[in-house]
Amino acid sequence: MSDIRVRFAPSPTGYVHIGSLRTALYNYLFAKGQGGKYILRIEDTDRSRYVEGAIENLIESMEWAGVTHDEGVFIEDDKIVQKGDYGPYVQSERLDIYNEYIEKLIEKGHAYYCFCTKERIDKIREEQKSQGKIPRYDGFCRSIDIEEAKKRIAAGEKYTIRLKLPAAKDVKFHDIVRGDITINTRDMDDQVLMKSDGFPTYHFAVVVDDHLMEITHIVRGDEWLPSTPKHICLYEAFGWEPPKYVHLPTVLNKDKKKLSKRQGDVAVGDFKEKGYLPEGLVNYLALVGWSPDTTKEIFTMDELIDEFSFDRVSKTGGVFDKDKLNWVNGQHIKELDSKIVTDLAIPYLKDANYITEEDVENRYDWIQKIVETVQESLSYMKEITDKVDIFFKDKMDPEDDKALEMIKGEQVPELLNAFKEELEGIDEVDEEFANSIFKVLKKKTGIKGKNLFMPVRVALSGQLHGPEMTNIILILGKQNILNRINYVENNIL
Ligand code: GLU
Repeated sequence: MSDIRVRFAPSPTGYVHIGSLRTALYNYLFAKGQGGKYILRIEDTDRSRYVEGAIENLIESMEWAGVTHDEGVFIEDDKIVQKGDYGPYVQSERLDIYNEYIEKLIEKGHAYYCFCTKERIDKIREEQKSQGKIPRYDGFCRSIDIEEAKKRIAAGEKYTIRLKLPAAKDVKFHDIVRGDITINTRDMDDQVLMKSDGFPTYHFAVVVDDHLMEITHIVRGDEWLPSTPKHICLYEAFGWEPPKYVHLPTVLNKDKKKLSKRQGDVAVGDFKEKGYLPEGLVNYLALVGWSPDTTKEIFTMDELIDEFSFDRVSKTGGVFDKDKLNWVNGQHIKELDSKIVTDLAIPYLKDANYITEEDVENRYDWIQKIVETVQESLSYMKEITDKVDIFFKDKMDPEDDKALEMIKGEQVPELLNAFKEELEGIDEVDEEFANSIFKVLKKKTGIKGKNLFMPVRVALSGQLHGPEMTNIILILGKQNILNRINYVENNIL
């Protein structure tokens, strides 16, 4: 077991964005590949953004995706529980720890109390902006003596605690994907570490926790890159060794903009609902921002663990391409046993009122046959309702002019009549009937080729293309076929 420890540290502010799933996945793949530990920590110090149920939703989404953690916050018997030696893993339960550590920084002279009101801060910001400067705190409270500050606090004045940045110092760090980065403290702010509500800011809590939880690698989205120098300053103020950093390229849409809710599905739950397979979604997400050292594109989780490395994570944004996702997911659906796909399909078929629980109990094989007929063509499970509607409609109108033209052929009445005669001679269609019917009709009528197959296809399915005719015949059964032929005879011919 290596000492590698990584963490995924979401804030419970709502749905789980697929970009978050990808961050979690890369943490997981790295930890598993290195024999390390993967931790899930909840960063809930921004109380104004807290959303009820978000933690549960997050854990469920990760479990569904198979991106499971070794330590941190879990759900057991519908309750949130914590496991591991470095807890608590929920920041709002660590307030005593932050208080202890902020005291240390104040004692060392690396942090100070700030009594500036929001109005004052807003005013200096406005002034700086109007002068074309980047707004930052002007250090007004930096020199307030500690004893004096304590008196003001005792007198009930509101305060925050800020980091006292060293003057004009280069802050350097190395990012495994981005390389060396340097920024001077002249361009940085004396950031707030403790807010007036007694909660730490993200910057303070993240550093204290990552240090105390012995996190070795911070793997997170590159929107956090500008925060990293602030974190490095804090590590330096404490005299702690910073972890290694990996900032991941943003997940972009096809227009190379940040993928947002407005463009459709971005929540893990949306994909789950549509019936994407967790293995398909995870396989595809792994490829958004990372490329394997082979041309292979379809991976199981274990294969991803073997292949994954930060060397092949790109610096620039990864494009989330729905069509590619559909293809990858379709490949995973194809690989599955048709019984598994049938079980996945049943809820969608029920929702569409195509089948009932009774059908599931009494005609499972028939449902499986339907599913097998379209399994190869599915990108995600919800699509099945459109793909199989030809089996469930009461009547079948030709879907377009070409189909209509085909069914209006002069040989068609004779052909359909012969088909009806054959059906009337049997109790129910079986494999033998379905396999031999075209031979029989050809012999009986002398009609052959396209003129034989196509009108039957259009009469039964309304379409010129679709699933294999033998399957259509078997699935529809005698009565449905007769109904459809009668409908065509009475209404279309
Ligand atoms: N709580 C931050 C978030 O919501 C975590 C950022 C980090 O990984 O440091 O993404």
